[in-house]
Amino acid sequence: MDGIPAGRESYSFVCLDCGYGWERSYEIQHTRDLAGKLRVEYYAHGVREPSPITGGKCPECEGRHIRILRPGRVAAAVLAASHGRDGHR
Ligand SMILES: [Zn+2]
Repeated sequence: MDGIPAGRESYSFVCLDCGYGWERSYEIQHTRDLAGKLRVEYYAHGVREPSPITGGKCPECEGRHIRILRPGRVAAAVLAASHGRDGHR
């Protein structure tokens, strides 16, 4: 099969330096390089971006200590960070 599906993925991020949380959607393109190796490229609004998994940084403080969460978890993570762990779900 040659048809590698492209897709759209959203990631949520939390900065471990300043506590800022944000969310971003990427268009994912799967391509093969000259050696036939599978590569994943990330685009945001049609512009190529570094992989959020390896190249992400905080838009607030430019810190690189970021944690990637599933979409929709940012609010919960920020809440947990500000309230500590009280077991509230
Ligand atoms: Zn930050």
